[in-house]
Amino acid sequence: MSTTPTPPDPGSRIPVPGELPSVWLQELTWEEVATYLRKRDTILVPFGTTEQHGPAGSLGLDSYVAIALAEDAARKAGVLSAPPVWYGDSSHHLGFAGTISLRTETLIQVVYDIVRSLARHGFRRILLINGHKGTNLAALTSAARNIREFELPDVRTAVADPMYLARGIAGRLKHAPEHHAGELEVSHVLYKFPHTIRTEKFSDAACDVDRLLGPFGTPDLFGAGPRDTVDQPWTSHEQRRHAPTGQFSSNRAASPETGKQYHEYMVDRLVEFLAGWQDRER
Ligand SMILES: [Zn+2]
Repeated sequence: MSTTPTPPDPGSRIPVPGELPSVWLQELTWEEVATYLRKRDTILVPFGTTEQHGPAGSLGLDSYVAIALAEDAARKAGVLSAPPVWYGDSSHHLGFAGTISLRTETLIQVVYDIVRSLARHGFRRILLINGHKGTNLAALTSAARNIREFELPDVRTAVADPMYLARGIAGRLKHAPEHHAGELEVSHVLYKFPHTIRTEKFSDAACDVDRLLGPFGTPDLFGAGPRDTVDQPWTSHEQRRHAPTGQFSSNRAASPETGKQYHEYMVDRLVEFLAGWQDRER
């Protein structure tokens, strides 16, 4: 086997699972990755958090969301996924035991270094998959944009997030406003990683965003209807006071069936995006 990466053929459609033993980069040898790079130049990078998710969800919930999406989208699209980044921008959750947070600027640097390394080997399409709806996005989108503009213009970057990727289905699936540790993200992980969810702790515990933040707050991350909003960050101390269980919205109705529909919808959308992205030349 030749060990020198040659320029990839972006249009090739060779399914990886038949050729390589895993879609996860960390489970391959460097020679297997070099083989992949002769045919494809796309890779997914899952970003999660280690942050509290109320009494029912484990601290890794956002990471499990990103891992589930990356693994199944990679398998269906025939592309690789880099190892997950288990830490994110979670400072507002530091009032709860176990949360580990990167500063926004640290996370930006983590993205830069991952993209630089992957680009060095010949990866030219790098899709960041965010499992931490919203808050990681400031870092991920800034890094994805700036590294192209100022350093690696030939590397295409993109960022996918359930908050935007699942707009077409979220309203039909959920029974309550969806916020942190709510029905959809808990259902998703209950479907894919059931051992990490405490179903006996499901509850209607919710914080009254309207009362706390007024009419410009965001009580539903998927938007129950058109609403004009203004972002109003709060501190970990305020969060602990306003949402004492750590849960922001009801997850009473969470189920693996809801999680399956939510998951499969997003995986299909990612596969659709990847097919178009790999065909498109700038
Ligand atoms: Zn979450």
